[in-house]
Amino acid sequence: MATLVGSCYCGNITVNVTTDVKPAEMTPRLCDCDFCTAHGIEWVSTPNAALEIEIQNEAAINLYSQGSESARFWICQRCGVVPAVTCDIEGHRKGAVNKRAMIDRDAFPATEPVSPKNLPPEEKKARWDNKWIDTVTVKDCWDVGL
Ligand SMILES: [Zn+2]
Repeated sequence: MATLVGSCYCGNITVNVTTDVKPAEMTPRLCDCDFCTAHGIEWVSTPNAALEIEIQNEAAINLYSQGSESARFWICQRCGVVPAVTCDIEGHRKGAVNKRAMIDRDAFPATEPVSPKNLPPEEKKARWDNKWIDTVTVKDCWDVGL
């Protein structure tokens, strides 16, 4: 088991991905939705992992839902970086992390474009169910229940 660590630029949002899967086996995905395109986000995930999102200051984050409002982007309001995305599927939270926010970002293979933009919401969720990190926990320092 190794833990891949990332964070927003100012350190308000930290992501820890614990997995047996090597970064070289996780191909980043360049999503074609307008939000990800604007941010240049390259998502990485594997189902066989656990993601912990740690928030230092809940008042300085923005949980932004876009488009079909089925996914939530974890945006730092101080520095603007988006280290993670999550989705609650039938009460089970799944997620992915932004390669560009990871310390070992250069350990991942070349990014491939993906096109979920025009999928209906149910197909998007089925896709995330397959590809995203299977276990997500949120450690919010003020315990406000994010
Ligand atoms: Zn920040």
